[in-house]
Amino acid sequence: MPYLLEYEAKQIFRKEGLTTPEGEVAETPEQAKSFAKRIGKPVVIKIQIPAGRRGRAGGVKFAENPDEAGKAAGELIGKEFLGHKVNKVLVEEKLDIKKEFYIGVVNDRAAKSPAVLISSEGGMEIEEITQKFPEKLAKINVDIFKGLQVFQARNAARKVGIPTELINSVANMVYNLYWRIYRKYDATFTEINPLCLTSDGKLIAADARLSIDDDAMFRHKEIIPETEKYLNERERHAKEKGYIYVELDPNAEIACISNGAGLGMTVMDYINEAGGRLACFMDVGGRFYELAGDALKMVLTLPNLKAVLFHVYAGLTRANVIAKSVCEAIKEVKPKVPIFIQVSGTGEKGAIEIMKKESEEFKKMGLTVEWCSHTVTGEESPSSHKGGVDVIETPVKRVLELCGIKYKRNPPKWLPEHPEWEKTTREIMRKALSLRPEPEYKELAKYE
Ligand code: GDP
Ligand code: MN
Repeated sequence: MPYLLEYEAKQIFRKEGLTTPEGEVAETPEQAKSFAKRIGKPVVIKIQIPAGRRGRAGGVKFAENPDEAGKAAGELIGKEFLGHKVNKVLVEEKLDIKKEFYIGVVNDRAAKSPAVLISSEGGMEIEEITQKFPEKLAKINVDIFKGLQVFQARNAARKVGIPTELINSVANMVYNLYWRIYRKYDATFTEINPLCLTSDGKLIAADARLSIDDDAMFRHKEIIPETEKYLNERERHAKEKGYIYVELDPNAEIACISNGAGLGMTVMDYINEAGGRLACFMDVGGRFYELAGDALKMVLTLPNLKAVLFHVYAGLTRANVIAKSVCEAIKEVKPKVPIFIQVSGTGEKGAIEIMKKESEEFKKMGLTVEWCSHTVTGEESPSSHKGGVDVIETPVKRVLELCGIKYKRNPPKWLPEHPEWEKTTREIMRKALSLRPEPEYKELAKYE
């Protein structure tokens, strides 16, 4: 979910006519000093990181003059706040704040609608406002077809005790936040906190937060969030295709592609426990399984790779489609590192056929490609297994071996207390599978 930094959000707010303080982004204390000089007034220096609550964490400082501004920036840039290193600070004219309000729009999943939030108590997090001043917080669940009407915003502002003379201007700000930001930019979340009334009577967005829906980013090609400017070629490719790809350590030796995040995380735990290093976490389930070969080609560009594990336990995805796609990619790229593919689940029979046939080819080409499935045992693969939890472990074990790492696993502490766990799970699964109409599933149920 692209989260924009405050200065990026403010650029958009300004473009859309929402008033923000005058300011500039500095990367060095010297820059901060010269910007403060140009602004010519006391300034506020704010760290630009993808997180809220910066004020409380000490990431917002005030400076009366350029020297102080430089000093404050020096105390922030390069330091870590809330788990993020600070590369940039925003230097802004310091507002003389008379009163702080809160306005925001969120996706209200429970109500299946956008919710506009207005409070006469700003400056603290919305959770805190909800707890401390419930009567000063109004929530408008907006009819998505009609959209927010300005009278709704006015009523809500009045209800929470916003002074009469400010009701129109606050309501206009809320209206603009809804239409010109939340709707226009396909936001999942946007917030002005605090929305400030200054001593000279102006209403200004002192802070700005904006998250845009990932699946709508194609409509906003002009927005390249700072956090995404630093993607490497793989991350960029994954982003273009829409893959779920997290590069954990580009210099690590094992790449794992799984279908399903749960499987991927389990494999990650096993590899970490054994002292192996996982280069990436990648989920090729859901709508992406036909692109499995493309995903393999992508991870093969990792520089220190020793093995790739394709861990597929197909449900909605089809193991045969994955096998075909991966085998084609292997023949095209001829990887120098061993590839291990597990092809269990839906489409398993077809996948086994493909793997048997292609294995001959791979051997001729001098490539190391091993594979296994849930049901195949014996001669087909050096790493075949009996099924059950083994389905997860065996491929991991083999891949670690291929990297020269000894597999060791500390079973979770709760496991011995539930010896029936595996049996029960498999029974449930067998039952579920046998209810499916496809003959393929019925067959699978036999093995489960
Ligand atoms: P957050 O903590 O990450 O939400 O960062 P904010 O930008 O909201 O800043 C935190 C707090 O600093 C605000 O709630 C304000 O009380 C204060 N603050 C921010 N900008 C100004 C300013 O220009 N003038 C004054 N007086 N206070 C400010
Ligand atoms: Mn804030």
